[in-house]
Amino acid sequence: MGERIVCKFGGTSVAEAAVVRQVEQIVRADPRRRYVVVSAPGKRFKDDQKITDLLLLTHKLADAGVDFASTYDMIADRFRALANDLGVPGAADRALADLATQLRAGATEDWVASRGEHISAVVLAAAFGATFVETAEHLGIDRRGLPTQDSYQKLGAALAGDGLFVIPGFYGRGPDGQVKVFSRGGSDISGAVVARAVGAAVYENWTDVPGFMMADPRIVGNPRPMAEVTYAELRELAYMGASVLHEEAVFPVREAGIPINIRNTHDPAAPGTRITATRDWGNRAVVGIAGRKGFSVLFINKNLMNKEVGFGRKVLEILASHQISYEHTPTGIDSMSVVVETAPLREHADAICDEVRDLLRPDEVEISHDLALINVVGLGMSHQPGIAARCFAALGEARVNVRMISQGIGELSIIIGVTEADFEAAVQALYLAFESHPSPQ
Ligand code: ASP
Repeated sequence: MGERIVCKFGGTSVAEAAVVRQVEQIVRADPRRRYVVVSAPGKRFKDDQKITDLLLLTHKLADAGVDFASTYDMIADRFRALANDLGVPGAADRALADLATQLRAGATEDWVASRGEHISAVVLAAAFGATFVETAEHLGIDRRGLPTQDSYQKLGAALAGDGLFVIPGFYGRGPDGQVKVFSRGGSDISGAVVARAVGAAVYENWTDVPGFMMADPRIVGNPRPMAEVTYAELRELAYMGASVLHEEAVFPVREAGIPINIRNTHDPAAPGTRITATRDWGNRAVVGIAGRKGFSVLFINKNLMNKEVGFGRKVLEILASHQISYEHTPTGIDSMSVVVETAPLREHADAICDEVRDLLRPDEVEISHDLALINVVGLGMSHQPGIAARCFAALGEARVNVRMISQGIGELSIIIGVTEADFEAAVQALYLAFESHPSPQ
C-alpha cells in the first residue's frame, strides 16, 4: 500500500469550473492524491454569495412558508452551470430535484445546509471519473458537533478500494441518525477525519491564501508566510484570531501524528505552511504574532492580600458564577488583575465589583476596558534568552506602553496587553522585530 494524501479543497477552489480544472491538475499531479474532500462552492468574486449561505436562506424561507423559488434557482443555476462547464451536464439534476422536494417536505436546516457539499462532490466525482463516497453513511458527529471515534474505522473501510474518491465535507450523521453539519467552515474537520481514516502521510488543505502569515496582513501589509508551525503554536495563534483553518480540524490529525499542509490552489508550486508536532525551532524562535482587541481587566488591590489563602479562588468563583471565563491573572504582592473578554463582561461588571467588595473587602476594585492582547508565539523562545528583550525593546522604540505581560513556564508564548489605541502600532513593531530575525544569539 503506497503513501496516501488527502486533499481538501475549500469553497473558493470549487467556486467555478475554471478553478475546478486547476484542482484536477493538482490532484492528477501526484498519484498519492486519491482522496479529495470538497466544500460547497464559495464566492467567485467579492460580493458573490456562498452556496451554503443561499441554502440556509432558502431553508429559512421554506420553513416560514414563503416562496423560496428565487434563492433555490440561484443555487440550481450555479450547480447546473458548474456541471455544464465541466463537461458533465445534468450531473447535478437529480440532487437538485431532491433538494426542491425535501424543501417542500420540511427538511431540517442541517440537511439543507449539507447539500452544498453533497452536490459539489457529486458534480466533481462525475467530472473526475471518481467514486463518490457518502459521508453521512460513515462519518458520525456527536452532540457537541465533534467527529465520533468510530468514524475513522468506518470511513477507512469505505475508502479501501483503488482509484480516486471524492468526498463531501461539512456533514455526517448525528446521534439521532439524521444528517448533521459541523460548525461553519467544518469541511476542514471532514478532511482531517478522512486523513486519519486512511492513514494519510499528509493532510493537504488547499485554500486561496499562501498559508499562515506571521501576522495579520490587514495590520502589517504583506507579512511573511510561515513555512512551519507546530499544532500547539497554531492553537495559540488561532485563539487570538489568526484563522485559515477551522480550529477543530487539528485534533483528529494531531492525535494520529499526521502533518497538515496549507496550500494555495492558485499557486500550486508554493510549499505553503506545514503544521506538525515539532519543528526545528532553531530556525525561527518566534513563528507568529496574533492579537485582538476587546479585553477588560478586573483590578483588585488589598493590603496583605498575599496572606489571605483562597483570595484568588474567591475572585474567580465570582466570575464563574456569572458564566465569565478568564484569560490571564497577572498578580502583584497585594494586587490581582484578571483579564476577561469585554463583551460577556459588560452587563455583569457592576454586579461583579459589588460582590468582590462585599465578599473580599478590598481597598480598591475597578474594571477598565479598552485592552488589546497580543500573543507573540514560538516554541523557540523556551530556554532561549533575548526574546522578551527584543519584544519590549521594539515596543519601547515604537513608544507603546505595555499594560500587562503574561508568560507561562511553558514558554510557548509571551502575551502582551496594550491599550486598544496602541494595538496596530504594537503588532507592527513586534512583527518587524521578528520578521527577519530567525533566532537571537
Ligand atoms: N460550506 C460550509 C461553510 O460555508 C463548510 C465549509 O466550507 O467548510 O461554512
